[in-house]
Amino acid sequence: MSSKVTASQGKQAIPGVANIIAIASGKGGVGKSTTAVNLAVAMAQTGARVGLLDADIYGPSIPRMMGLAGYKPEIDHQAKRICPLENYGVKTISIGYLVDDDQAMIWRGPMVASALGQLLTDVNWGDLDYLFIDMPPGTGDAQLTLTQKVPVTGAVMVTTPQDIALLDCRKGIDMFKKSSVHTLGIVENMSQFICPHCGESSSIFAEGGAERLSQEYKTEVLAHIPLDISIREKADEGIPIVAAAPDSKQAKGYQALAGEV
Ligand code: ADP
Repeated sequence: MSSKVTASQGKQAIPGVANIIAIASGKGGVGKSTTAVNLAVAMAQTGARVGLLDADIYGPSIPRMMGLAGYKPEIDHQAKRICPLENYGVKTISIGYLVDDDQAMIWRGPMVASALGQLLTDVNWGDLDYLFIDMPPGTGDAQLTLTQKVPVTGAVMVTTPQDIALLDCRKGIDMFKKSSVHTLGIVENMSQFICPHCGESSSIFAEGGAERLSQEYKTEVLAHIPLDISIREKADEGIPIVAAAPDSKQAKGYQALAGEV
């Protein structure tokens, strides 16, 4: 674990939390949540104290990916605090623990902003070295609420190598720039497909895009994560690949990423 990140000033800090790292993407479906979960667990495996906040109000996937679907967090009524749920050494909170999916789906902007605000301020995290925030996809109000409310130490952008995803990733980096949030680097997800039968590697979503983008924005590519069936299967089972098979080659990219953040 290196400490490339330094706490930013000026916004309301979350008590006990040393570093807030946003995991973001310009568009949905590129593997942002999968990356956030595996990064958080890999970071916890290094001995760090880690939290993961699911800010994807309209499509919370952290409960399922962390094996915590159906669980409800306890509320400390005296302190008026929500107690995070813990699995794989990572404390997590998600709107998915608190309301039914279809209920959150019909919320308007101000309700989303207020729910996000509560997830940021009313959770009893204890002391954390890292709080990872699984950001909602895109560059709208919810993203701005987050970057304006708390001092985000840095952002990790997740993209696939495809042109359309890279275009949206640019918008994401620009949004963080405008909010004075430093982009720590880019994760190229679904970089290569390794055929489970013959072992041949194919660039299904093209290649080299993240490198070009990182040069353009003077940032770095933090990791290349392959498109791999076991990553998807384990995410669906609620056991992140870094917890299910920490010594596997599939886990390596996330472990390397934890070393870079
Ligand atoms: P996002 O948070 O960007 O919407 P998700 O993390 O939910 O994306 O991923 C979308 C889908 O792709 C999920 O089914 C997930 O299991 C799968 N997925 C993500 N990354 C990989 C990968 N590297 N290899 C295989 N499947 C992946």
